[in-house]
Amino acid sequence: MSNSIWSQMFGGEPEEKKPVSADAIIHVNRNRCPENHPCPSVRVCPVQALSQAGYRAPKADMDKCIKCGKCVRYCPMGAISLG
Ligand code: SF4
Repeated sequence: MSNSIWSQMFGGEPEEKKPVSADAIIHVNRNRCPENHPCPSVRVCPVQALSQAGYRAPKADMDKCIKCGKCVRYCPMGAISLG
C-alpha cells in the first residue's frame, strides 16, 4: 500500500505520463472544477503556464506550455486534459 501524500489525500496515485501530439492543447472542464480552492495544478506547472484568478478554474497559456502533462495528473477532480 502506498503512503504518499497524494495517495492519502486523494486515494490511488496520479496516472502515468502519456505521449501527446504536437498540436495538443490544455482543456479545462469547468463542470468538473468546483472553483472553490487554490488549484494544485497551477503550482506543479514547471513553466508557469497555468494561472488562476481567485478560485476560478485555471487557464493555460499554450505559448508557455511544454505539454508535460503534470497539471493533468495533479488535478484531483480530473478537470484538466491535454489533447
Ligand atoms: S502540460 Fe505541463 S507545461 Fe503545460 S500547463 Fe500543464 S503542467 Fe504546465
